[in-house]
Amino acid sequence: MARYTDAVCRLCRREGMKLYLKGDRCYSDKCAINKRNVPPGQHGLSRKKLSNYGIQLREKQKAKRFYGVLETQFRKYFEMADKQAGITGENLLRILESRLDNVVYRLGLATSRAEARQLVVHGHFTVNGNKVDIPSYLVSIGDSIAVRDKSRSSEKFKAIAENFNGTVPNWLSVDMEKLEGKIVSLPSREDIDLPIAENLIVELYSR
Ligand code: SF4
Repeated sequence: MARYTDAVCRLCRREGMKLYLKGDRCYSDKCAINKRNVPPGQHGLSRKKLSNYGIQLREKQKAKRFYGVLETQFRKYFEMADKQAGITGENLLRILESRLDNVVYRLGLATSRAEARQLVVHGHFTVNGNKVDIPSYLVSIGDSIAVRDKSRSSEKFKAIAENFNGTVPNWLSVDMEKLEGKIVSLPSREDIDLPIAENLIVELYSR
């Protein structure tokens, strides 16, 4: 599957905010947003005021970039969300949050969603005891996510456990000694701390 392979800090500069795509670096002085928060490109600063369409488009791009999802998959998630009962925009965010790579990141078992994605692809996790190496796997309430037995002693996971700050969103629980977590519930809108105006994404796709 195609992936974005250019310098990811450009994506943050394009959105004018931190998207937290590079783990620890995002919290350091080296972060490009801390150093130079201007749009990328020669004419970055001279771009014109956005139209309504442009504003909606930027919001969708921002959401895709936060979660590391490409357009086709994002559109599929929107269609799933639209078929579900409730508010489409909130359904969309809930689906995105339910991705296994996001859950691994939210549990503190990776320092960024990109790292979580890589760790999942490399087969380091199980869901309910079964190895799952698909980052887009959607978890359900009650699912148990764990680092595989043979990966537990790796330096990577030792460092992750040592640096864990002790907090996870309240729709998850984690036991960092066992390197495993559980889906207690699916997140409500209030549980999702990302600055995304999901109604603008719904407006964009409803044009
Ligand atoms: Fe974005 Fe992180 Fe790069 Fe900062 S360091 S610009 S938050 S990806």
